[in-house]
Amino acid sequence: LFIAFEGGEGAGKSTQAWMLAEALRADGFRVLLTREPGATQVGAQIRDILLDPATGELAPRAEALLYAADKADHLEKEVNPALARGEIVITDRYVDSALAYQAGGRELDLDEVERIARWATSRLRPHLTVLLDVDPTLGRSRFDTADRLEAEPTEFHQRVRETFLALAAQDRDHYMVVRADRDVVDIADAVLDRLQPLLGH
Ligand code: C5P
Repeated sequence: LFIAFEGGEGAGKSTQAWMLAEALRADGFRVLLTREPGATQVGAQIRDILLDPATGELAPRAEALLYAADKADHLEKEVNPALARGEIVITDRYVDSALAYQAGGRELDLDEVERIARWATSRLRPHLTVLLDVDPTLGRSRFDTADRLEAEPTEFHQRVRETFLALAAQDRDHYMVVRADRDVVDIADAVLDRLQPLLGH
């Protein structure tokens, strides 16, 4: 079972991914909790390049390819082996982040970004994607420091949000959209409820 958490800055993805992993472990499931970018050794180096403000301007296509390289390494070294062991994999960000940030935010062609991201991940799709939807002005107020992406203007993050919502609206069977300003425990309970039908598989 493969579950992705997606959403903008400050949406609480990491908290919810962690809470879900803990709840499932308490129920006896084996869980790999992981994230993009940066879950592997090479991924961590790619993450440093991508997020360090000192990197400065990066050609949007180069940025898209670096995210794709991180994904390819992540899938091959972490996600696929864990799924093969029968574990539940929970990832904090996945392909939708590429579509939202590199296509929505950077305004690269969505189909092209999707082709690259799907190639990098051998078309593996999550059984469920939980989109934590947050107003960029609220999400960003939760940060003291800005990484390279968090320093982008509000319009960038607005396009990111709209792209995430459009992806979710296209495929209701595989998405759950939750308002990120709800109570943290309420959100975690709702995610667990939504997952129940999938846990038998
Ligand atoms: O979720 P987390 O804060 O670790 O994400 C790291 C950063 O990477 C975020 O600022 C996010 O905007 C950025 N990102 C991106 N494109 C992706 C994935 C993440 O710009 N495909």
